[in-house]
Order: sequence, then C-alpha cells, then structure tokens
Amino acid sequence: MENVMNKLSQKAIQTYRSAAEMTNRITCEIKLKANMADHKSQINDLYEQMGKKVYEKYLLKEEINMQSDFENDCNMLDVLANEVEDIRMQLLSLKDLKQCPKCHYEIDLEFHYCPNCGLEQEQDNHSQMTDYEEEK
Ligand SMILES: [Zn+2]
Repeated sequence: MENVMNKLSQKAIQTYRSAAEMTNRITCEIKLKANMADHKSQINDLYEQMGKKVYEKYLLKEEINMQSDFENDCNMLDVLANEVEDIRMQLLSLKDLKQCPKCHYEIDLEFHYCPNCGLEQEQDNHSQMTDYEEEK
C-alpha cells in the first residue's frame, strides 16, 4: 500500500514538473513574442520616418544623400533585423525546432536531413562533441 502511495506521489510530482515546465515555456514564448512585436513596431516606425524624410526632400526639391540622410536609420534597421532573427531562433528552439540553413524550412531538432530540400543537418555543438568523444 505504501508503495502505491509512493508511486502516486511520484507521478504527481512528475505531472507537476512537466506542467511547471510547460508554464515556463509558455511564459517564455509570450515574452519573446512581445519582444518580437516591439522590435517589429520599432522597424515600422523607422520605415515611416525614412518615408517622411524622402517626401520632405521631394517637397523641398532636395537631393537625397544616402550617407548623411539614411546611414543611421539603415544601421539601426540592421541591428533591429538581427535582433528579430535572434528572437525568432529562440522561439524556434523553444518549440524544439530549428531552421534549415539552405531553404529556411522549420525542422525538428532531431532530424538529420531537411524534409524539404534534403540537406544534411549539422547537429548542435553539444551532440557533435559527444559523437567525437565516442569515436575516440
Ligand atoms: Zn532545407
């Protein structure tokens, strides 16, 4: 009888743990998505500013100088685009997915070949290290 009780509480703990992990993942996902939306709205604001600048130049019949007029904006866009990419990768790995480097298809972390284009997938560093250790 004690055994059964033990097993039951073990199961309860496991269920609790995976539920906690799920909640954690969901919280993480919500944060990442909010961060992503924030970045995207910053990018849109920048586009809007740049568009306004172009129109003002048009109204004033001024020449557009990429370097002086838009270099800062473009650098800022580069930074934001990189961050969006980072967030997207974090979201993927949260769902145990990765992206094929060739065709950008979203694939399961476990897959060795891309189901879309057939490219052999590099395993992550950790498992590469283990493979290497095993070969020795
Ligand atoms: Zn592919």
